[in-house]
Amino acid sequence: AVRSLVDCGHGVVATLFADARVEIDRASLDDIAGFAETTATAARLVEAGTLDPGSGLGRIVLTPDFHRGAAMPVGTVAETRGFVIPRAAGSDIGCGMSLAVLDIEADEIAALGRPLEAALRHAFFEGGRNIRLDAATREAVLVEGLAGLSASARETGLFDRLGAAGLARAAARCHGGGRIAGARVGDVLSEWLRPGGRDGVTRDGFLGTVGGGNHFVEIQRVETIVDRRAAWDWGVRPGRAAVMVHSGSLGLGKAVALAHLDRALALWPAGERRPANGILPLALTAEGGGPGGDYLADMAAAANFAIVNRLAMSLMVAETLSRLVGRAIGWHLVHDLPHNLVWGQGHRALHRKGACPALYDAADPVFPDGHPVIVPGSMGTASWLLRGLGSAESLESAPHGAGRVLSRNAGRAAPEDPRPIRVVGKIDLERSRRDVAAEAARTLSEEAPRVYKDIGPVVDTVADAGIAARVARLAPLLTVKG
Ligand code: 5GP
Ligand code: MN
Ligand code: MN
Repeated sequence: AVRSLVDCGHGVVATLFADARVEIDRASLDDIAGFAETTATAARLVEAGTLDPGSGLGRIVLTPDFHRGAAMPVGTVAETRGFVIPRAAGSDIGCGMSLAVLDIEADEIAALGRPLEAALRHAFFEGGRNIRLDAATREAVLVEGLAGLSASARETGLFDRLGAAGLARAAARCHGGGRIAGARVGDVLSEWLRPGGRDGVTRDGFLGTVGGGNHFVEIQRVETIVDRRAAWDWGVRPGRAAVMVHSGSLGLGKAVALAHLDRALALWPAGERRPANGILPLALTAEGGGPGGDYLADMAAAANFAIVNRLAMSLMVAETLSRLVGRAIGWHLVHDLPHNLVWGQGHRALHRKGACPALYDAADPVFPDGHPVIVPGSMGTASWLLRGLGSAESLESAPHGAGRVLSRNAGRAAPEDPRPIRVVGKIDLERSRRDVAAEAARTLSEEAPRVYKDIGPVVDTVADAGIAARVARLAPLLTVKG
């Protein structure tokens, strides 16, 4: 069976998608039970008048990459009415994946050897990125996502390569047109726009940052095509090189998440018991306003930053390669989609934490065969490109990766991984700086292929359950790790 029902208590039943070969750890299912407690709390808040009548939890779907996360497990999709649960989107708001194909054979890249590693290290870690956004553009990026880039009054460096038409083409291929709607630059994010503001978008070099942990920029080879029609339509050809980017909103999303957690605490009705798991709802009015609406507006701005940041990093790879081979290499975006976000619609909210949309709309002008779904494996194993089938049963949601089997601590303790990996990261930065080298070595052992589930059964589950269909398999050539 590819699906089973999990009784979470408090009258909540979740649908778990995972065939018998997918490892699901019991402890994370207990965390879902804790989440269900939030629902029970919401019911009390309706009685207390803090939430609108009719507020409550809808369905919960758990994807096969399901595993333990902070507060809420990764791979959780939850529908609500009358409230938003910020923690159900995670603190790396707008974290997502993008995939672009390049007009160059993977073999030609593989032959570049060490100079490529040095060039990527320079671009990503030694200030080699060429991004210049004026203040108005930085703000426009937060409010409008990719469309905000065209607001630039002066040269942007890296993004100029696309031109207005190329930018519009890329935006059209992104989830939601490269813009999460309803964004505002409120109190939380205005700090990032101030000249000299901390870690600011103001500082050159903020865009183009990979971020730590399992965020990555990976050059891959298109290995196997399963669906020739979709692959052809998306420009995915066997043997070609592709760039996959996994990154989020860095400090911006974290600031938004923390600010609204504080807000939920401040708004908590006196005398009302808080759920033990600390997962608190924020009221959402029928029009999508209220404290929940404020959260959605800040969240959208952080997510818009993340979209533009992934685009920047994908282009940085194309630029770097173009310079190395001495010709301009064509870059074509396949898709960009978030996996930590809340989709608000009036009174309703759909939360995905570590799960991505898997949409299908035959009338869609760009993706009539289903929207692309990007499922990375690890830096030593295959990743998959799928097409969404719009499964209502899965809340139109797919796994966003293979998912961890080993916690970070266990990953460090596990034996060496025999699978070959090629990494450019801080580990190469300053060998003289022991603290940097030690941290990088730790990241490497925490992120080695062995800490992730086997992607085969994860993708089999998704295909067998009718959530998404296989389009192409990609193999890693070289991974840039923050
Ligand atoms: P998360 O968004 O939960 O942090 O992780 C997303 C997924 O990315 C993980 O479940 C894992 O399967 C995948 N992943 C992590 N590191 C790498 C990497 O270096 N390369 C590739 N291709 N996938 C990775
Ligand atoms: Mn992230
Ligand atoms: Mn992520």
